[in-house]
Amino acid sequence: MSNELEITQDINNKFTAQQARGLNYEENLLWEKERSDHSGVDLPVPEGSAVRTGLPERTEDIGLPQVSEPQVVRHFVKMSTWNYSIDHGFFPLGSCTMKHNPRLSEKLACLAGFAHIHPKQPESTVQGALKLMYELQNWLAELTALPGVCLVPAAGAQGELAGMMTIKRAHELNNQSQRKIVLTPDSSHGTNPATAVMCGYELRVISTKDTGRISIEAFKEALYATSDDGSDIAGMMVTNPNTCGLFETNIKELADLLHEAGGYFYCDGANFNALVGKIRPGDFGVDVMHVNLHKTFSTPHGGGGPGSGPICTTVKLAPYMPVPVVGMKNDTYCLQWEEDRPETLGRLKGFNGQFAIHVRALSYMMSCGANGLKQVAEDAVLSANYIFSQLKDDFHAPYDAPCMHECIITDKIQKDTGVTTIDFAKALCEYGFHPMTVYFPIVLSGTMLIEPTETESKESIDRFITVMKKFAEDIKSGDTEKFHSFPLSTPRKRLDEVIAARNPVLRWSCN
Ligand SMILES: *Cc1c(COP(=O)(O)O)cnc(C)c1O
Repeated sequence: MSNELEITQDINNKFTAQQARGLNYEENLLWEKERSDHSGVDLPVPEGSAVRTGLPERTEDIGLPQVSEPQVVRHFVKMSTWNYSIDHGFFPLGSCTMKHNPRLSEKLACLAGFAHIHPKQPESTVQGALKLMYELQNWLAELTALPGVCLVPAAGAQGELAGMMTIKRAHELNNQSQRKIVLTPDSSHGTNPATAVMCGYELRVISTKDTGRISIEAFKEALYATSDDGSDIAGMMVTNPNTCGLFETNIKELADLLHEAGGYFYCDGANFNALVGKIRPGDFGVDVMHVNLHKTFSTPHGGGGPGSGPICTTVKLAPYMPVPVVGMKNDTYCLQWEEDRPETLGRLKGFNGQFAIHVRALSYMMSCGANGLKQVAEDAVLSANYIFSQLKDDFHAPYDAPCMHECIITDKIQKDTGVTTIDFAKALCEYGFHPMTVYFPIVLSGTMLIEPTETESKESIDRFITVMKKFAEDIKSGDTEKFHSFPLSTPRKRLDEVIAARNPVLRWSCN
């Protein structure tokens, strides 16, 4: 337990310019706060009294710290103020689409009729919730031009798994099990190759070299590497726009070649924010894609709890999707299971998906409307290009052309001074910003991937640009030393991330 002197020192050492200084001191674990002569969750057993709760009788302490309710509340509230969240400020993580949490969506998700229902309730008592899911399926089908929709997957990564399992199921039921290879570009998000391998596929990587895009030549080389007609190819997984923030300009031609060879096109739809309302993936040849509701349709992950990654498929692949799918029979909404969908790959997870995120997504869609959703993509792309145009003379710009919803710069110009990408990320923390995505995509070195989204004001984007330009100027004038000590004023400084990843300490022990 901290004594008063330590607390005073803590306040003096740890105050920050951005936060109320008195609040920002170290917080002990609840176990370290408890006092043996105090009672919290365990009430002392009255002497000589018989157990009245029946068996099973607890034979030892429950193992929770003996602290009072106000101590617990203050403990967690205090620590919650240390978290940098989308409600604190700009969150330019690329490949993540951290837009804000509209309060309207939160309000609707909290309505008792949505928040307090149980997935085991009879369908007749949750018709409103099923209708909401049915309408969300319809909106997604319309926006993607892919009419089969399954809302079950709980995240983008699980959507990928659902989508690739759908493709695998289709091949198996159509006597195409000899198709064992999945193509994916070297710039792809790590979840793409991981998913293909989890589904038992062999991976073949398409090189994108210096262009950042898949060329027809490189694609053909991969497609026909081990057979004349591509008859060993199960499909390809491509993110479009890709993780370099570039639209795959050859996409329709690639899809046609793949289809000719009998493969299916899986599109990682995490970057749908750049396209929504403008073009429809089904129109450029996609067979299955997942949509990260928590990216494109608000509820950013990390800022709003769990995500949701529905998949959308062509008519041809729809029968193989996981169950349940929301349907309609005699004017009544219902969940369709194996009886209605005999070719389904089956059940992927418990219950029906992340319903509260479905509510928020539909709320975002309906509050934007068709025109508004189109403007989402336009503004997101405009914001990213604005940042890019302002920074590309101060930082190395590997792809010096208009980008989609996110842009890439690298530390190539600065790194000989000793200031590298990690130092920029840490300096941003000092200046009150969440860092951008760093060292990803891995096809280039020292990347900084920046995504502003459509929900940031020009003022907040300008502030970010000003700070980044100041960093570049400082380094140019030789003022580099300070970059290695940033951040100075956060409760945590530079952690040993390798040890944290390799040797995580996940349990507290009193010994
Ligand atoms: C975010 C993301 C994913 C994974 O989505 P989760 O919801 O985090 O599981 C997959 N691919 C890309 C390109 C992404 O940006």
